[in-house]
Amino acid sequence: MKARQVIPLVVLIALASGFSVGQQAAPKTPITAIKAGRLIDPETGTVAAQQVILIEGEKITKVGANLPIPAGATVIDLSQLTVLPGLVDSHTHMALTYKEQPENYYYYLTYITDSTAFRAIQAASNGVQMLNSGFTVVRDVGNNALYADAALRQAIEMGWLPGPTVIPSGPMIGSTGGQYWPTPEMYKEHNIMYPEYIDANSPDEIVRAVRENMLFGARTIKLCVDCKPWGYSVEDIRLAIREAEKGGCKVEAHCQTIEGVQRSIDAGVYIIAHNYPTPEQHKQMAEKGIFLAGTDTPFMPYRGSEAAFNRTVASLKDAWEKKVPLTFSTDMDYWNERMKDPKTGEWLSRGDLTMNFLETWKAAGIPPADVLRAMTINGYKASDIYGQRGPIKPGYFADIIAVSANPLDGVDALRDVRFVMKNGMVFKKDGVMMPEKFFNPGPVRMPNGRWTR
Ligand SMILES: [Zn+2]
Repeated sequence: MKARQVIPLVVLIALASGFSVGQQAAPKTPITAIKAGRLIDPETGTVAAQQVILIEGEKITKVGANLPIPAGATVIDLSQLTVLPGLVDSHTHMALTYKEQPENYYYYLTYITDSTAFRAIQAASNGVQMLNSGFTVVRDVGNNALYADAALRQAIEMGWLPGPTVIPSGPMIGSTGGQYWPTPEMYKEHNIMYPEYIDANSPDEIVRAVRENMLFGARTIKLCVDCKPWGYSVEDIRLAIREAEKGGCKVEAHCQTIEGVQRSIDAGVYIIAHNYPTPEQHKQMAEKGIFLAGTDTPFMPYRGSEAAFNRTVASLKDAWEKKVPLTFSTDMDYWNERMKDPKTGEWLSRGDLTMNFLETWKAAGIPPADVLRAMTINGYKASDIYGQRGPIKPGYFADIIAVSANPLDGVDALRDVRFVMKNGMVFKKDGVMMPEKFFNPGPVRMPNGRWTR
């Protein structure tokens, strides 16, 4: 009996130490220890001083003060910095950049001038720029040509290039016409809606469109609820929600009318995009726990108007006061030649431009802790990845950033991202991302000063 007991014990020890009996040592999972001067928990809005985060491979294993650092661990000293989980843009378009030239900001034309392949490559560049600014997750919701968003997700997961975790929607699903008003010949003879939108009118077509998007890589479903007066009914939206559920997807409703918002609330969508809900509807969204991706555009030298900005600020403030679950969301999908840093004259990256949306949150007087929650916890929840990715807790993927100052004292601290780790891999250190200066969100090098192939 005694001898028989010894063998399993040996096997157990061997397994626990990473060896299997009679075989070579398996390659050891690298261990990283991050020393964090300050560690923010955005869930509670609190800071803990002098914390250690242990990471094994891609995942966090331990977090705490005075944790012993295992021998052989790579130590990353962020003791002078504030460490927090990676940020989320809950509504963006990585493969869409409509420009002043040549399409006069008319994005219907972008997909005539820019192929899916071309846009996918730009999306890859935008992904690097977003990660550099600390965004480790993006919800990429439509207007991405023929599944450039799903391809981007896959390429990043395959390790072909660095970038955030992408939650792609595939083409937006809408009733006849999507967001376009095409001519009969372009619509009927050239199928111009596709791939920017999938026309789905009847229940059968809605089911087919949702299934197709999930088949081709969508992780969320985006509906154009009221882009046209005929739009979707409560029953149509419920059908899409039920069908999406089968593939593990939640539904985001693009709404641009109060009626569309109401139908989406009544149907029980997961997220409502854009800032059309009324104060009364904010109340209903809060009660039902429907996320708002308000896409709260700031008034900048390169974009917006003061009047529109004031309306946006008032709407965001009201949503916050009514306790709607808010996400940080941008709809950042345009470019012009004024997108430069006024001080240095350098081009602003996709990440910088995204971060500029903080101006709206500041103007709405939303406390930094709540802005941070929108940019992290609520973003993970809206992305439907909460529980696997996001918080700096054992068992989660190590998506970690660090900034110099404390963003709980002022969210502009987020503009100075010094360190970025995604899936346990360091992408930016001491404020330096490798080819940082190379990437750009627009066509800044136009041969002969004009747009040409
Ligand atoms: Zn959008």
